[in-house]
Formats: sequence, C-alpha cells, structure tokens
Amino acid sequence: MKIDILTIFPDFFRGPLDYGIVRRARETGLVEIALHDLRSFTHDKHRTVDDRPFGGGEGMVLKPEPIFECIETLGLASRQDRVAAKAPQSVILLSPQGRRLDQPVAAEIARLERVVLICGRYEGVDERVSDYIADREISIGDYVLSGGEMGAAVIVDSITRLLPGALGNEASSRQESFTLHPELTGDGPSSTCVSGGLLDYPHYTRPADFRGMKVPEVLLEGNHDEIRRLRRKKALEKTLRNRPDLLDRVTLSSEDEKLLAQIKGNEI
Ligand code: SAM
Repeated sequence: MKIDILTIFPDFFRGPLDYGIVRRARETGLVEIALHDLRSFTHDKHRTVDDRPFGGGEGMVLKPEPIFECIETLGLASRQDRVAAKAPQSVILLSPQGRRLDQPVAAEIARLERVVLICGRYEGVDERVSDYIADREISIGDYVLSGGEMGAAVIVDSITRLLPGALGNEASSRQESFTLHPELTGDGPSSTCVSGGLLDYPHYTRPADFRGMKVPEVLLEGNHDEIRRLRRKKALEKTLRNRPDLLDRVTLSSEDEKLLAQIKGNEI
C-alpha cells in the first residue's frame, strides 16, 4: 500500500511512523509512506498556506492552491474517475465533520492500494478541497484537534496493522476488540480468542500471582472450553460496562445470552 500525507508539519510524523508495527511494515515494503510539505507548493517568499475567511469569522483557512498543486503531482485519477471506477485509491480529508473512524472503516481503507491523507490546520481547509479533491472526510472522534496530523497517524496505524503480514501473529488483528465475524477469520466459534464484535477479553501474563493479585485460575489449568467461556464472559462484562452500544450490533449466541444474564444478575 502507498500512503501520501499532505501536511504543513511533516516533521510531526517523526515518531508516530518510526516505531513498532508501522516501522516494520515500512522497512519490509508492506507500506510506503511519502510526506508532502504543503509549503513546497507555495509561490510567495513567505510560503503562505493560509488566508482569512471570506465572509468574515474567526481564524485562518488553509488555502486550496498548495493542496490542489500537491495532489496534481501524485498521478491520481480525478475524483470523478476514482469514484466512478471504484478505483482502489482514496483521497481522505481529515476533519471533525467526517465519518467517524472505527474498525470497519479502517478495514475498508486497508483494502485500498493508495491512500492520500490531507491534514487540515487553523479553522479548517478551503471547502473546495472537500468538494473537488477528497472522496471522503474522516474524523477520528467527536472532539476538535488543532490539526489533522494526529488523525493521519491514527489512520496509518489502524490500517497498517490490518495489512496481511503486518503483525507477527496473523490471527491477532482478527481477534481484537470490535472485530466482527469470527467465522470469516477461520478462527471458528470454539476459538479461545475471538472478540466477535465485543471488546477484547482481558489478557494476563507472568507472574500468576503479582503482589497477591492473582490471574484467574481457569487460565492456568489448560481446559480450552473453560478458558473460552471465561474470556467470553469477561468480554461481555466489559462491553456491558464500557460500550453497551456494541451489544446491539452483535449476534449473541444462546451461551452469550446466559452469560449476560448471569452478569446482569450479579450486578444487582
Ligand atoms: N473549524 C473546524 C470545525 O469546527 O469543524 C475545526 C478545524 S480544526 C481546529 C483544524 C483541523 O484539524 C481540521 O481541518 C482537521 O484536519 C483537523 N481535525 C480536528 N479535529 C479532528 C478530528 N476529530 N478528526 C480528524 N481531524 C481533525
């Protein structure tokens, strides 16, 4: 996959792209990331990328020219052709007004071959970028950040770990929180590890007894069915506590319903 990031702060990305899975994916050529400094696409001596808003109002707006000019150097199909041909490429504008990033959206983007991320700043980006260049706007959450760089880094990380071969253990991205459809992953319903659209189950490692805080006995005993049931119950418990909305989106088995009833009974 090739990722282009358009930003006025390319140095911001020293760090987010240089560690762990993203770094390894870059080194092995699984993902190629190019940073484009929007100031290189200006033509005045102050390298101006922003201007005052038409119609008045607070702050400054990121000008359209540097973004259009930068995009024109990337050899992409026009937005119209991209969308009409369902090309495996997308130009994404980071915006709090965008569609909210979640695991299915990350999975959708991870299937593309080319992704361009435009980072806004100031009061935002001239709307013609959204109207004529970007084919989607993505928000990383319902809060306002000072710029799109954090969002771009979040998107890069969340999609890179979904690329086949990015994780050491292929199964792990399929087993994490939010991942739906274990039957499509080949893990099967009897796996001890699937999340099935719930939050992930709790993980423990050695020591089994840390300052008197003990790992659940079941995990030490090696009975796979018991382990699967305990993990499922814990995943249901945490989902009910922290993200009850997810329970409406998953299909619960009769065993899940029983575990949930137990949990709710215990809560009273
Ligand atoms: N005036 C805009 C509004 O109220 O919707 C906010 C602009 S924000 C201060 C500047 C830039 O940060 C945006 O253009 C966008 O690129 C980025 N940004 C801010 N919050 C974001 C979020 N939740 N998700 C993605 N990008 C965000």
